[in-house]
Amino acid sequence: MDIKNIAILGSTGSIGTQTLEVIKANPDKLIAEVLTSNTNADLLIKQAKEFNPNAVVIADETQYNKVKEALQDTDVKVYAGEEALSQVVQMNTVHTVVTAIVGYAGLKPTISAIKAKKKIALANKETLVVAGELINQLCEENSVPLIPIDSEHSAIFQCLVGEPNKVDKIILTASGGPFRGKTKDELQNITKAQALKHPNWSMGAKITIDSATMMNKGLEVIEAKWLFGVENNQIDIVVHPQSIVHSMVQFTDSSVKAQLGLPDMKLPIQYALSFPDRWDNNFPRLNFADYPNLTFEKPNFDTFQCLNIAYKALNDGGNMPAIINAANEIAVDAFLHDKIKFLAIPELIEKATANISFIENPTYNDYVNTDTETRKFTKSLI
Ligand code: NAD
Ligand code: MG
Repeated sequence: MDIKNIAILGSTGSIGTQTLEVIKANPDKLIAEVLTSNTNADLLIKQAKEFNPNAVVIADETQYNKVKEALQDTDVKVYAGEEALSQVVQMNTVHTVVTAIVGYAGLKPTISAIKAKKKIALANKETLVVAGELINQLCEENSVPLIPIDSEHSAIFQCLVGEPNKVDKIILTASGGPFRGKTKDELQNITKAQALKHPNWSMGAKITIDSATMMNKGLEVIEAKWLFGVENNQIDIVVHPQSIVHSMVQFTDSSVKAQLGLPDMKLPIQYALSFPDRWDNNFPRLNFADYPNLTFEKPNFDTFQCLNIAYKALNDGGNMPAIINAANEIAVDAFLHDKIKFLAIPELIEKATANISFIENPTYNDYVNTDTETRKFTKSLI
């Protein structure tokens, strides 16, 4: 088997660092070719010294000299700035790009990688939420496979391998987050610390807040539509607090397939890089006797308004998912900086959906403008 050279967009984050663990455990199969970070120069330098990649990018240009000097005794190429992210993924030596940047910032370098015909292992769900139709079209034009890393979508992808048959329903499991079982009223005075305590997963701050509002599941419904080409009414959510069943597919004969495992992102990351193979590893195994109760319940659309917002955006289509994504990014950031209350997150998003112009068939530039305008509008309300 050929060794695969991997570019990790966002190597210093939660998915990025776990991707490096997978690479480290598979030195005969994977090489860290390109590493990038937004502002975390110290960790990027440390990673570069350990993995000796061909190139690194620090998006924050003010830290270029720091990274350059720290790596002057190595032959690692050092670049800086947002543009460089889109350039490094096109390098001849890159085989697969792991998109582990958080948020809308992942869209442009992902498009650049697809145009250069690189395989995509996609963690950055916001890319598909904002511009799923465009991304699918580009992947088709360039014969580029897009393999999901998000655990639910990896589960569905695994259930569909070798299945030529029609899907009846996709059933996304949701842990329910830290506020499962609460009423909306009980969420009035939620603090940042409470919202950042996810019961099952340790992740970056933005997706952890998205899990607390359940916007994460809403974004994942939209992500699933574009990954699996199903109709909007074929995607359901079921709350499964133990996070052992990672998601399910129901076929037209009523058979349901599920993928199970302990909650550990390293498995879907490794599978996205090993597909179509599976590689041996020493990850802890699921012992069913440790989980005598796997439970399932309906999601609460009254408490978690973000679920309604996401389904409505999915049905509206056009640039609406891009609007809710941008407003959500601004609102979550404001909440993380103690500028707004928890329940203001859905309120701000709804205001943005009512105020930003709807575009039915957006072009790439429409997505960019929608994102810029929505950010500006949402910030003006904070
Ligand atoms: P994180 O905040 O831990 O890491 C984000 C990474 O992206 C960092 O390396 C950071 O330097 C980089 N980055 C952030 N903003 C950037 C910008 N503007 N320009 C360039 N680089 C930038 O996030 P994460 O939890 O690893 O999540 C990454 C993506 O994966 C998100 O889209 C998230 O929804 C998705 N995801 C994460 C998990 C998880 O377990 N963490 C699970 C499923 C999906
Ligand atoms: Mg997920």
